[in-house]
Amino acid sequence: MSLLEVRDLTVTYANGARAVRGVDLTVEAGQKLGIAGESGCGKSTLALALLRLLPAGTEVTGQILLNGEDVLGMKWGRLRAVRWAGASIVFQGAMHSLNAVHRIGDQIAEPIVLHKTAPAGKVKARVAELLEHVGLPAARAQAYPHELSGGQRQRVMIAMALACAPDLIIADEPTTALDVMIQAQILRLIEQLVAEQDLGLVMISHDLAVLADTCDRLTVMYAGRVVEEGPARQVYEAA
Ligand code: ADP
Ligand code: ADP
Repeated sequence: MSLLEVRDLTVTYANGARAVRGVDLTVEAGQKLGIAGESGCGKSTLALALLRLLPAGTEVTGQILLNGEDVLGMKWGRLRAVRWAGASIVFQGAMHSLNAVHRIGDQIAEPIVLHKTAPAGKVKARVAELLEHVGLPAARAQAYPHELSGGQRQRVMIAMALACAPDLIIADEPTTALDVMIQAQILRLIEQLVAEQDLGLVMISHDLAVLADTCDRLTVMYAGRVVEEGPARQVYEAA
């Protein structure tokens, strides 16, 4: 059984825009898949569809199997359990994903409390451990998002994404909003954490070179469809 299997996935927004058209892809446990393609080709839509995070009124057809479980057919309770604990998403520009008025420690604690992945008395310790794991001092738990740099905020998002020990991390342009120097640091961090915990990774980027460096396999999308697929180096050199 594969970690993630997507079959004939088609996504149509409420306004009729068909952003994803018959996409197939597979990620084996511990495998790193890169999804490349120019802006607007449907990469983010695909990422959001994997956890059913698209706006209400969006039509999604086809099949998404996460650890063999049918995500599109799941009841809400099960879906909530799968988000964060089965798969989590690291979005571009953590400023939008983090809540400006809550301390970052409380935000990292949220999925931990929701999924009871640490006993009530151990949540703070678990948050501290996660912060240190992504290279931030535990004391930063007290900070608000605006008190951190862009790179630090992205580290917080990565800590949140890891908090419930998912099998799959979906990283949607995780470094695009960052300075070039910081981009490399965040990429290395993701690579290191994924390798340490043998997680599956779906990494989305408009930058084929970044994906070729990080991923085992590459899928290239164009206008909602997969137009290339194969071992990362091979796809990169053919492009
Ligand atoms: P990418 O991540 O590759 O840049 P997106 O998935 O963001 O691509 O967008 C794919 C297409 O879907 C684009 O044409 C975009 O304009 C459209 N789109 C994205 N979000 C919405 C939405 N909420 N409603 C309608 N169309 C959308
Ligand atoms: P809410 O205000 O209900 O939390 P969100 O749009 O932030 O609305 O989240 C919708 C659902 O997706 C919630 O169940 C939330 O826990 C989950 N969720 C939000 N962000 C992520 C993420 N990055 N990875 C996995 N699950 C997420």
